[in-house]
Amino acid sequence: MTTYRGRFAPSPTGRLHLGSLVAALGSYLDARRHQGQWLIRIEDLDTARVLPGATNELISTLARLGLHSDEPILLQSQRISAYQAALDHLDAAGTLYRCSCSRADTAAGPYTGRCRNGPTGAGPYSLRLRLDPDGECGFFDRLQGAQRHTHRALGDPILRRRDGQIAYQLAVVVDDAAQGITDVVRGADLLPATGWQVKIAAALGLPPVRYAHLPVVLDANGSKLSKSRSAAALAELPPAQALMGGLALLRQNPPPQLGKASVEEILAWAVTHWRPEALEGVAEIHPSQCDLGL
Ligand code: GLU
Repeated sequence: MTTYRGRFAPSPTGRLHLGSLVAALGSYLDARRHQGQWLIRIEDLDTARVLPGATNELISTLARLGLHSDEPILLQSQRISAYQAALDHLDAAGTLYRCSCSRADTAAGPYTGRCRNGPTGAGPYSLRLRLDPDGECGFFDRLQGAQRHTHRALGDPILRRRDGQIAYQLAVVVDDAAQGITDVVRGADLLPATGWQVKIAAALGLPPVRYAHLPVVLDANGSKLSKSRSAAALAELPPAQALMGGLALLRQNPPPQLGKASVEEILAWAVTHWRPEALEGVAEIHPSQCDLGL
């Protein structure tokens, strides 16, 4: 019986970019290195941002790279009743409250708990999880080390938005548990949200997962790479070249002649040689400093 189940959970709001290539490949290699399973899940709840056709394009780009889900791909848009059941459970336990604050009201920093004793304005309301204001959240990240935040610094997370949409923070926790995920390997842009996810899982009585946050891929100007031209071009690259670039970004030092091998051979080499330690404590990757051959 395998004790490792990993996943890659892209949002279909654009094409696969270098940052998501790194997350897909890193999560896949880590799962296979542990003889584990690897699942793809499409996080398409934010319907206003989902691009038509993007889900199919993501799945086919991953398939060209040899990255196939071990189980049928889950779409979050089909899972609303499971998220509602989790909200009902938390509501019955008295840990949810209605909040009338808008995004602009809370933009200045972590949410201060203004509506904890009842909404301070008219609806519509979001639903927040009540965290003990004096508590703390700690977890260990395999790559980024020990993490600790006070609940005050985190602020109470929104689980359902004012427009009624289920928040990613809740959906990701419910789905990871429903899919039996043991290990989350993803980009460090999600590290700040992880404390919330740890708390939401605990409030729902769900088992904790292990985390490994991969460095964020930045572009030459130091911003997240997703919008750059090289990101858009990834889908058009020969798959072997894209995989070699992804391995270079992950600091796996693939031998150059591997670039002439098939997708399957490149992945087999990468599983055997997977060294996540190369990324320990690395928070950012600057593609200009890697020999990507792109
Ligand atoms: N859908 C999220 C994203 O594309 C990833 C969520 C996760 O891996 O937890 O940023």
